[in-house]
Amino acid sequence: MGLTGLEIFKLTPRTNCKECGFPTCMAFSMKVASGAVEIEKCPHISDEAKGKLSEATAPPMKTFTIGKGDAERKIGGETVLYRHEKTLVNKPLVAVAFDDTLNAEEVDAKINNIKDVDYERIGEQMNAEAVLVRYGTDKESFLNILDKVSQLGKINIVYSKDASVAKEAIEKVKDTNPVLMGANKDNLNDMVAIASENKIVLGLEAPTLEELYDLVQAADKAGHKDLILNTTGEEIGKAFENTVEVRRAAITGGDRTFGYPSLVFVNDLAEGDEFMETALASTLVLRYGSIIVLSDISYKRALPLFGLRQNIYTDPQKPMRVEPKVYEFGAPKEDSPVLLTVDFALTYFVVSGEIERAKSPAWLLIPDAGGYSVLTSWAAGKFGGSVIRNAVKESGLEEKLTKKRLVIPGKVAVLKGDIEEELPGWEVIVGPDEAMQIPKFLKELV
Ligand code: SF4
Repeated sequence: MGLTGLEIFKLTPRTNCKECGFPTCMAFSMKVASGAVEIEKCPHISDEAKGKLSEATAPPMKTFTIGKGDAERKIGGETVLYRHEKTLVNKPLVAVAFDDTLNAEEVDAKINNIKDVDYERIGEQMNAEAVLVRYGTDKESFLNILDKVSQLGKINIVYSKDASVAKEAIEKVKDTNPVLMGANKDNLNDMVAIASENKIVLGLEAPTLEELYDLVQAADKAGHKDLILNTTGEEIGKAFENTVEVRRAAITGGDRTFGYPSLVFVNDLAEGDEFMETALASTLVLRYGSIIVLSDISYKRALPLFGLRQNIYTDPQKPMRVEPKVYEFGAPKEDSPVLLTVDFALTYFVVSGEIERAKSPAWLLIPDAGGYSVLTSWAAGKFGGSVIRNAVKESGLEEKLTKKRLVIPGKVAVLKGDIEEELPGWEVIVGPDEAMQIPKFLKELV
């Protein structure tokens, strides 16, 4: 909870010196409370007051950066429970688990699957972001697997309840900003020492939420505040309940003891049922897994899971857009048709997918249409004759083309006359209503 203007005022020197640019300390305090001004603007505020203020205004859930380079990601930092309240900020990460019981062929098969499932959807690269290597009893196998999978360049999550093995493992991957999981009440001090020495995030686990709560406080007391909470319960229902309880306690209860990201071993809960694994992982995308551990990755798992995640973790207040410009398909020539659609990302990806399917060279012109669908942009006045004329003129297409054919979406056939007036010399053709009809349409057009 933020402080009120009056509470902030009590922390100021109350001298009304005006050095902050405000006539009084009270006026300044009101602005700070509204978020319009930083407290640092007052040069006379004490460090103690600054500390109090930053503690009071800190988000209810900590944010951590894990991984290095291209693999670097943020987790945590959520301020609301539901997407419609504001927005969810750091999407859950997917980790693929490697137990030390796996043989070399099984490890290679998973590595190949991780490499294979990597595709773009609406401007976002979809793949498993992390690998989790878990020590059970076979230290040699565990360290060998870690050596192998750390070559993938993903976020490395090391799981070991044995602190001496954990230390050896972290030493191997310490430059990748890994995560260390497996701290419990018996090994806490040793695990905190490893995490603190390497400045990495430490994962805590306990049999019950009450014991996990105590463990967080103990880790905090031991000096380590960069934590992830393993909320995996004995069975699916318990894991879901734990994960939701932890997030609720932090966001709505304001209890910072549970203000940390969570990790759930979905692979263990699903017991080899990959459909159950995907269903449970999807549930945890919706209800508050920060790192979701899967037994493997495949397109069957990835397509529903990553699609859902992208839908939930986009800002509902910002339209998903692609860059307005000319896109080329199949090396188009000076007599290839120019297709036209809007800059709403979903529309673009559906239309471009169908043009690719048609295997017929074409230009695709995307004007700045506000990031809405075809009919919405048209109704909002953002996809009319003058907008399209400007887009054509700015695209440079007129200089490139010998045959000027502009194919407009069938749903806005009504624009044909307007565009013909705006673009003399162009043949304006009404295209299909639905994107799936594009391949047939282009075949007949060329
Ligand atoms: S600079 Fe600080 S002390 Fe001076 S008026 Fe502003 S808030 Fe008050």
